Amino acid sequence: MREMPEINHCIPNRNAFWCAKCYVHSQFYCETESDGTARYSCRECDFAMFLPGQIVPWKNGLLLGTLLLGLFGLFRLPHEMMTYWQWSPACLAFAGFFGLIGGMMWFHMRNYSQWAASQRLKSNSELEKEANEFAASPYYEMSDEFDKWAAQFLSETELLQLHERFDCRKRKTVSKPSDELELPPLED
Ligand SMILES: [Zn+2]
Repeated sequence: MREMPEINHCIPNRNAFWCAKCYVHSQFYCETESDGTARYSCRECDFAMFLPGQIVPWKNGLLLGTLLLGLFGLFRLPHEMMTYWQWSPACLAFAGFFGLIGGMMWFHMRNYSQWAASQRLKSNSELEKEANEFAASPYYEMSDEFDKWAAQFLSETELLQLHERFDCRKRKTVSKPSDELELPPLED
């Protein structure tokens, strides 16, 4: 049994980061790249994760760009054989570059769609069983990264309730007095 039954990371969610290696919405860690963009990697396998709902327009745009640049490059190539300014090699090079990235996105997105389709055929109890038995079961912690991950599946109130549940459990198990200043609970 996983420690957070509130979240089932085996249920497809287009707005949650997905790991193309683990085939699940696993927990992530976030790093900022040199150009300032955030990179989300899977805690289980370190593979870069992606948002299925966000990747589709990029994938379509890149593949359309590949097609247009490729066609233009191929069309211009015979005309430019004898001239100095040759656009076609540049167009074909960009088409190849866009095609490579777009193709990679298409491949991962296809895997996600196939996984999502197969998950949707399963019953709720099957999905619960899968989440409970999944090797990389998510775990609770107090961090911004955890909140960001959990907020993909829970509303603000549900997330607060989750924290309260773990906070209560901690208070029950830890009998050591805290050094921090704490106001006594208001009770009459
Ligand atoms: Zn992974």
